Amino acid sequence: MILILKPQSEQTKIDLLLEQIENQGVSIHFSKGETETIVGLVGDTTHLDEDWLRANDVVADVRRVSEPYKLANRRFHPEDTKIEVAGRIIGEGHFAMIAGPCSVETEEQIICVANAVKKSGAAFLRGGAFKPRTSPYSFQGLEGEGLRLLKIARRETGLPIVTEIMSENQLDDFADVDIIQVGARNMQNFRLLKELGHSRKPILLKRGLSSTMEELFMSAEYILAGGNPNVILCERGIRTFEKMIRNNLDISAVPIIKAKSHLPVIIDPSHAAGIAWMVEPLAKTAVAAGADGLMIEVHNNPAKALCDGAQSLNPEQFDHLMVDIKRRVAFEEKILEG
Ligand code: PEP
Ligand code: MN
Repeated sequence: MILILKPQSEQTKIDLLLEQIENQGVSIHFSKGETETIVGLVGDTTHLDEDWLRANDVVADVRRVSEPYKLANRRFHPEDTKIEVAGRIIGEGHFAMIAGPCSVETEEQIICVANAVKKSGAAFLRGGAFKPRTSPYSFQGLEGEGLRLLKIARRETGLPIVTEIMSENQLDDFADVDIIQVGARNMQNFRLLKELGHSRKPILLKRGLSSTMEELFMSAEYILAGGNPNVILCERGIRTFEKMIRNNLDISAVPIIKAKSHLPVIIDPSHAAGIAWMVEPLAKTAVAAGADGLMIEVHNNPAKALCDGAQSLNPEQFDHLMVDIKRRVAFEEKILEG
């Protein structure tokens, strides 16, 4: 981190600031030029409050030269993180297909979809029990009953389950869930992230609708800093000016995550596309970009789905996609089996 000091600052005020910084365990490299005085702060600056520095009388500007996330950073953890879930590995060259309906609707529906996606080769079953909907009048999910039905589908198929948590108060109810999803709208629910940090559960952390990559890494940092190393990042499309697609799939998230972090990355083309026909081409780009897996919405009867039917593939479309994805992945990676 670099501080640029205001010219003609009082030396006593500068000395006081530098002493306060050193007291926080950071070393100082002072360099007084003809026109500018620059202070290099060396060491672990993650705990230094940028706003506190900016608010100081003698400080003209503050610039970070290293990232504020440490635990999520590849620089301090060069090898890829692999996450073990119910005997399956996500990351480190294993490609994970997560598939299932947007929301759990009935026992027949979730079992039908679970059997279908398993047959096609999915390794995990997704399904929302608690749904974060834009409108309070839309279907909100079956809630506790949805969790119960997901577990029945897991028993029937052996597929581990992935489902979204909405609040830290639900952690006990999610104790038996294999991967806890944090949805885009909760990416910056810091109280929830802190509580998830105290668990050991694998967390699928979705990028917020308008969040930067750094904000995504900082949210992961909350979970990691709590002691939970099992974080999987998920890109699901971001808001841009474009209206022809529900969200823009930011495929550059994959190489950025691979370069900056050691955490695995999953692409969700369904919530990016918003429409079923666009899911397949987007899914293919995810494999080409080097993602560690995909999360795809599949419904036995998309036209009748209670949530996100337009973007859901039917089992035949999913099977077709899966054949293609397996072929692509097989060139370089090992695909997880259900
Ligand atoms: C979901 O996966 O069902 C979901 C609500 O996704 P997102 O949080 O990305 O909108
Ligand atoms: Mn959905």
